[in-house]
Amino acid sequence: MLALGGKKSLELLSIVVPCFNEEATIPIFFKTVERIRGQIQADIEYCFVDDGSKDGTLAILRALRQKSDVVHYISFSRNFGKEAALYAGPRHARGDYVVFMDADLQDPPSLLPDMYKAVSEEGYDSAATRRVTRAGEPPIRSFFARLFYRLMNRISRTELVDGARDYRLMNRKFVNALLELAEYNRFSKGLFGWVGFRTKWFAFENVERVAGETKWSFWKLLLYAVDGIVAFSTVPLIVSTMFGILSCLASFVGILFVVIRKLIIGDPIQGWASTICIILLMGGIQLLCTGILGQYLAKTYLETKKRPVYIIDELKLRGGVDH
Ligand code: UDP
Ligand code: MG
Repeated sequence: MLALGGKKSLELLSIVVPCFNEEATIPIFFKTVERIRGQIQADIEYCFVDDGSKDGTLAILRALRQKSDVVHYISFSRNFGKEAALYAGPRHARGDYVVFMDADLQDPPSLLPDMYKAVSEEGYDSAATRRVTRAGEPPIRSFFARLFYRLMNRISRTELVDGARDYRLMNRKFVNALLELAEYNRFSKGLFGWVGFRTKWFAFENVERVAGETKWSFWKLLLYAVDGIVAFSTVPLIVSTMFGILSCLASFVGILFVVIRKLIIGDPIQGWASTICIILLMGGIQLLCTGILGQYLAKTYLETKKRPVYIIDELKLRGGVDH
């Protein structure tokens, strides 16, 4: 960007922060990022997205905006989920660059200067981060997370990096590509890979939350994983078709066997238990496959309704311009 005097003016970096019940962490987050602000050769604006918090998050954002004119916020009418917040943020942020950061400082701000350099000077379109350790996380959660990534990379053509965070700095080109994917069932970790472009990866050790509690229960994470699989792979459908073909073949062979045996040795009343087992097995496989099919149908159903991804209750953007 060129200013009037021909002197190069600074470009703008928008920091998008999804917040759901984060009253304890937002002030610490803001203070910490402000401290490293001088190390980044850009103007900075904050775009907090209050995802229908029930605590004092919105009051804190209002107060912060009173104090600092680089703070902006969007508040949803209810909790729409982090994915909706990650979609709303960059749609309203004005920056030449956009970075997603969690409010709990699990995304270390100390990486920001290098990430910014990678995208603004080194020719990358995005700077992404991944955790190399999961220390401090419940072991069962780490186990299922690993399993999910291994499975996803087998069954989907979109690459998913194990431990990848949503903490990512992108240039406008990347952000606009992301925003063009206006789907309802959003799975950002997959969308980032899907849009392509050149990405530089930064690794860091896991950091624990500064305050407050995680908003992801095991159940919520499991549903999120199913969302991810359904959004980025149709392999489960193929697997269920295979199940169907295999069980058809098996029952065909079985029928032949029973008929021939009847013709040769007659029909003693035998094999009741094995028949029941086979009926149960077949019933189970059918239900499983119908369930898998149902998942895709349900997602298609939601997608065809074309509901908005989020609804805004309050919007405070720069210079008092509220849309
Ligand atoms: N978050 C959100 N909406 C939700 C759940 C979480 O905006 O429904 C935000 C949350 O405020 C935080 C970020 O997403 O800034 C990551 O959430 P959290 O730290 O609870 O997840 P974890 O780090 O445990 O995976
Ligand atoms: Mg967290």
